[in-house]
Amino acid sequence: MRKGTLLVLSGPSGSGKGTLVKEYTEKHEDVFVSVSATTRNPREGERYGVNYFFLTVDEFKKKIEENGFLEYAQFCENYYGTPRESVEKKLAEGMDVILEIDVQGALQVKENCPEAVLVFTLPPSYEILRERLIGRGTESMEVIEKRLSAATEELRQAMKYDYIIVNDKIEVAAEELGAILVASKCKKENNIDFIKEF
Ligand code: 5GP
Repeated sequence: MRKGTLLVLSGPSGSGKGTLVKEYTEKHEDVFVSVSATTRNPREGERYGVNYFFLTVDEFKKKIEENGFLEYAQFCENYYGTPRESVEKKLAEGMDVILEIDVQGALQVKENCPEAVLVFTLPPSYEILRERLIGRGTESMEVIEKRLSAATEELRQAMKYDYIIVNDKIEVAAEELGAILVASKCKKENNIDFIKEF
């Protein structure tokens, strides 16, 4: 059976990654969105196991020692990591998997799984990014400034990605994400077994 595509989606916080994934998965059920672990505090309305697995620093470190993460990174003073087991299982079952993770994590994934497809999302402009972060109202001004400076750093790495999606109109961005998944499925490298069998 053909393995699923591992699609890694990054972009500054406020770039609309979450909305993009939601828009795509509402119309496509055949994709698994990995739920990460983090040591940051839950925001209002966030639920354990739905948005994140919220762990203490000790719990997180234990999971690192057990090789339980496909990748992990520190972002704005908190740990974030992708649980290995569920992702590997879904890929082996032939399902596409989306990881919504930061640049450091994405580059680790690319190193360990070169066949992963890396997609970077951006809002139409820096001003819009700033407005979105402030408008969200979930972070203090200090945290927003930190996230904006992280965004500038992340942007420097965008050229290491395979695709860029400018997230202006959400339906268009979701279509582009779907097109990338279809293109990946049709790549010759992902059909070698089929060709041999044929
Ligand atoms: P937030 O705190 O806004 O939910 O996430 C902050 C950043 O951490 C975002 O860029 C998000 O994509 C990233 N992130 C979320 N989960 C993971 C993960 O499992 N690994 C890595 N490396 N980054 C993650």
